[in-house]
Amino acid sequence: MSTFQDLGLNNDLLQAITDLGFTKPSEVQEKAIPILLGSEGDLVALAQTGTGKTAAFGFPMLEKIDVNSKTTQGLILSPTRELCLQITNEMKLYGKYCKGLNVVAVYGGSSISEQARDVKRGAQIIVATPGRMKDMISRRMVDISKIQYSVLDEADEMLNMGFKEDITNILSHTPDDKSTWLFSATMPREVSAIAKNFMHDPQEITVGNKNESTSNVSHEYYLVNARDRYQSLKRLADANPDIFSVIFCRTKRDTQKVAEKLIEDGYNAGALHGDLSQNQRDLVMNAFRKNQIQMLVATDVAARGIDVDDVTHVINYQLPDEIETYTHRSGRTGRAGKTGVSMVIVSKSEVRKIKSIERIIKRKFEKKDIPDGMEICEVQLMSLANKINNTEINHEIDKYLSSINELFEDTSKDELIKKFFSVEFTRFYDYYKKAKNLNVSADGGRDDSERVSNSKSTRYFINVGSKDGYDWMTLKDFLKDQLQLGQDDVFKVEVKDSFSFFNTENELKEKVIDFFTDFKNNGRFVNVEVSENRGGGGKRRGDRNRGSGRRRDDRKGGGKRRSEGASKPRRSNSNSGGSNAFKPRRSRR
Ligand code: AMP
Repeated sequence: MSTFQDLGLNNDLLQAITDLGFTKPSEVQEKAIPILLGSEGDLVALAQTGTGKTAAFGFPMLEKIDVNSKTTQGLILSPTRELCLQITNEMKLYGKYCKGLNVVAVYGGSSISEQARDVKRGAQIIVATPGRMKDMISRRMVDISKIQYSVLDEADEMLNMGFKEDITNILSHTPDDKSTWLFSATMPREVSAIAKNFMHDPQEITVGNKNESTSNVSHEYYLVNARDRYQSLKRLADANPDIFSVIFCRTKRDTQKVAEKLIEDGYNAGALHGDLSQNQRDLVMNAFRKNQIQMLVATDVAARGIDVDDVTHVINYQLPDEIETYTHRSGRTGRAGKTGVSMVIVSKSEVRKIKSIERIIKRKFEKKDIPDGMEICEVQLMSLANKINNTEINHEIDKYLSSINELFEDTSKDELIKKFFSVEFTRFYDYYKKAKNLNVSADGGRDDSERVSNSKSTRYFINVGSKDGYDWMTLKDFLKDQLQLGQDDVFKVEVKDSFSFFNTENELKEKVIDFFTDFKNNGRFVNVEVSENRGGGGKRRGDRNRGSGRRRDDRKGGGKRRSEGASKPRRSNSNSGGSNAFKPRRSRR
């Protein structure tokens, strides 16, 4: 293991490193820094976020640029505003003893003329998001024709977010003989193509295996009924009293709903998704950074810039559509040498995906059980005991001590402890004493199949299928969004070629049928009818000819026509804590 001195960095940088408290180089730094300092060639580095990659390209860039010149020499492209600001901050910290250094962040959502002014003052390094950079180039607000070093950070994310054309455009304004350093967590074909088209014979380094999760993150999955997802989430949180977590949902709507429910149930939670304004997102992120929010519920896109190092748990409330995305999610924990846990809540229909993820991340998942009520009570009790044990005494209490002593004169120490702990414990105990087992065995147990066969649900036929571009997840999302239903209200979605089936509870039957009366989607009538087959697809009620897209004129209420997304999301008023009046509350950290 080498030291920062061994890597050949100059004294100004070494001093900054000491100030930052970095004692030894991380793996990516140990591998990348000597290459970048020792040559003017290109580099492809496969490294996750949190591995110290900003310093891996940052130190060499700072070492190589000329701070006495006001020409822009280094350009760092990053996918999000948050990451752009984070990199800029880190570069300033790393270069704090480099006199004359000017690093400028360029990103959307902030005044372009102010950023242009900052650049004009002589920015040797620009850190930018692709959209804003392209904009500034076209308005001639920046000159990147003399840059010598370009970094494509989180290249896979930039391509995922559709920045390919912007990146191509930006790079076309840079000199051919510059060095390009590409950093990416994963190596999909699109990233290889960028490396091939824009780089000359790059050296390659890999930290861990391609797409592989870092070794300090352990992976766990919990098999539950789809309808118990939220209760399971709460139990996982309650069983980990010091949790500081990012919870991933698949849609903005689910993200908002889960966060709202958690807040209603007394948790320190917040939502982060694209329907929030930049200002709202900044507020949530600031609260999260300050640990005022313990559970940040986020979509994949919104979570891209999360740069918080001490996240203890990532919880996959739902698995992502693209299983490769799991690598990014789990990379939000186990950063900067710390350990972390990535948990997945899965229903039976999704459990096979765990195997595919294991193949991608080259790590095994541990199947674990959602803790039962008494386990949670015990954890909470012991956590409280530890907290009390570690609490510094506030001597303001001293003056009340004699009256308190008087009150407890006849109470033994044991009794006093029991009373004291009961204040907190009883709330958890009352809530959890009748809590059911939420676990489902892979080969049976309670799952949607039970829900289907218990005659409380209705099965429907719908005349759209895979030909129309749906799979079970996208169709479920479509139905949920149109009908404004919760995540688990639509189940047993089975997509065939030109039609599909799905279930809801019987109570929703009228709503579903009513809603789809004369319903048009993208100019086509969508038929939904009750199916006679309650579980496995097949026959629909009646034998009329129901050609795909055929309008049903025989239904009542024919005038009611709705378009996509016409109505607002319904806010859940249900008390997700079941019949208990008490909902465990989390105390602030
Ligand atoms: P990054 O992967 O660049 O986002 O870095 C993740 C975090 O690790 C940042 O907060 C860095 O300040 C920190 N970091 C980077 N290099 C080191 C190091 N050698 N030792 C300890 N922390 C580091």
